Amino acid sequence: MVNLLKSLQSRLIYPAPSNTNHFDEDDDGEELFPTITSSAAMTPVNHSQTGEYFPNYPRKSDSSTGSSNNDSGHGLGINSEKARLSSLSDNLSASASSSAGSSPTMTSSPTHSSSSTNLKLLLEKHRSRKQNQPRSHTIRFIYKLSHKIRYLSAIRIRIKHNVSVPLVVFLLPILSVLIFFLIFFLTRILHDNNSNNNNNNGGFFSKSPPKLREISDQYDKPFVVGCLEPQVDQPRANAVLVVLARNSEIEGVSQSMISLERHFNRWFNYPYVFLNDEPFNSTFREAVRNITKSKVQFGTIDPVDWNFPEWAEPEDIKEGIAKQGDAAIMYGGMESYHHMCRFYSGKFYNHPLLASYEWYWRVEPEVKYFCDITYDPFLHMAKNNKVYGFTIIIKELVETVPNLFRHTYGFKQNYGLNTTGLWDLFLTKPEDSDPDFKDANKDSGSVRKRKKQQKKDKAKAKAEENAALSDILPEEAMLLEQGKEKGIQQTLQEEEKLDPYSMNGEKYNMCHFWSNFEIARLDFFRSKQYNDYFETLDRSGGFWNERWGDAPVHSLAAGLFLEPEQIHYFRDIGYRHTTIQHCPANAPQRQRPHIPYIPDPTNKEQIEEDRYWANPDPEVLNGVGCRCRCDTDIVDVEGKDGSCLADWVDLTGGWV
Ligand code: GDP
Ligand code: MN
Repeated sequence: MVNLLKSLQSRLIYPAPSNTNHFDEDDDGEELFPTITSSAAMTPVNHSQTGEYFPNYPRKSDSSTGSSNNDSGHGLGINSEKARLSSLSDNLSASASSSAGSSPTMTSSPTHSSSSTNLKLLLEKHRSRKQNQPRSHTIRFIYKLSHKIRYLSAIRIRIKHNVSVPLVVFLLPILSVLIFFLIFFLTRILHDNNSNNNNNNGGFFSKSPPKLREISDQYDKPFVVGCLEPQVDQPRANAVLVVLARNSEIEGVSQSMISLERHFNRWFNYPYVFLNDEPFNSTFREAVRNITKSKVQFGTIDPVDWNFPEWAEPEDIKEGIAKQGDAAIMYGGMESYHHMCRFYSGKFYNHPLLASYEWYWRVEPEVKYFCDITYDPFLHMAKNNKVYGFTIIIKELVETVPNLFRHTYGFKQNYGLNTTGLWDLFLTKPEDSDPDFKDANKDSGSVRKRKKQQKKDKAKAKAEENAALSDILPEEAMLLEQGKEKGIQQTLQEEEKLDPYSMNGEKYNMCHFWSNFEIARLDFFRSKQYNDYFETLDRSGGFWNERWGDAPVHSLAAGLFLEPEQIHYFRDIGYRHTTIQHCPANAPQRQRPHIPYIPDPTNKEQIEEDRYWANPDPEVLNGVGCRCRCDTDIVDVEGKDGSCLADWVDLTGGWV
């Protein structure tokens, strides 16, 4: 390496400095003096022993009266001139003191007098030169820099004896490669820092190993971390898998069932109930029977539970739905969707085929599970006094539920309900509308607390500042300050009055458990209070005039009637529906070997599929999953905008 550098150095050809005005530093490095170099005096000298070329700077001409054109060199001129000035000055004082010593009355000799005049001239010249210099450091710096760049760009490198190229041309490809790698590394680092707020899979230069962000287990925690040997001999819960679907959705239903069977039900064999507003055809029945060994039942929904309520005016309803279609509200113009939402909000749990069950797990067409569920979630829910379980909590589209909260709040007041902390999960927090808290979802509980405290401190400091101002400012100025404050308060109050969605300062934040996956107790929905709530909502007409989904309805009901401890976050269940997914990392040291699942050993597709699942994702610190293999085309909803998981985590103890 050293040899390489030496050989490189020996091949460098330095340029002769050009005939240019430039600035240089003087001895103390503080002052810059303009110096003019003469190209005629700067012929390169070949230092044959090193092969290097150095400019032959002109020697300072010894003329004390010479113009600056002759008396300067590359800094050397000034230095020697200064030295000369100083020696002249020394001589002068020496001769002055010696003459004073020999004859106190003696006058200056002509030699002394001419010497002193010369000195004065020199000193003046030096002073004036200093004064004439550009004072701006920036200009001097730019000047120096451009000079240096020009000098450097003229350096050449000898390739062969008589062939040389500019050094810049030689270095350009190397520099380009270096810059490319630098940009690549920087973008990697930025990407790693930005993505996976909750799933910290270790940044590019991260010292810590990849890890999943840990949630406090104060109120809720995964029932099982990692894999177990499925306990198939244990008694089952009184539970059922519920699928509402149309005959036309058999493909999507099959996909969901195959996934659920592979990852859970092949061991636990819970029964299925399929519901439809029309009778299921034989194709549908046969197809689902082929997928599972479990008991399956097919039910047709009573038209009373599906169609418009008898007290409603069908024409009015249809008009309301058409309006939502015109307003491009998602599914708003689709009558069947309104039927479905109302059925799932207030009817499904009374279907005769579900009457005997205590628990249900809702399954939709076109869903996918990513991890093996090697334990019985129903039994664990029961054991832990849980009522409702979710995997995804996100925000609803505001335009689908503009008045849902107003009616819910009215019900809460009329019923005289004392809500718990779970109600707060669905309320807009003051910081939600504060730009300082825009990224609050990404912050941990402690960071949010700190930010809150900082806000409080800021407000306190402002109040103190106002108090201090009142002592020094005239009264009118203070009135203006107070007026500003008052104005802000007034605007807030007026805004609240104008905001029809704010009820006594409480406003729905649109968070809801994404109910296409839910594991819950049926008696929660069968309770008198839930049905009173549903009746209140139903009578308001919001299932038709607006497009209230069963997800916000179930969620607000949970907020009204349940405690945070009664809710369970199935963080270990990897789940995807459409373009939203939650998929946990695998728990370290708690994995078990893949258990093949090939119902038909002659089926190549099934063999292929099983091979895919035999290669799970790597284990990750704090991971909770069992043999998960997550889709990589979309990121986990946990850390995404629109997820309400941070609010849930805040409520149940915060991030660890
Ligand atoms: P999304 O998940 O919100 O897009 O809504 P889906 O279209 O998936 O509907 C939710 C559930 O209701 C799915 O299980 C559908 O199969 C079911 N569903 C929706 N509309 C109807 C309908 O008109 N008849 C029946 N039988 N099922 C429906
Ligand atoms: Mn769906």
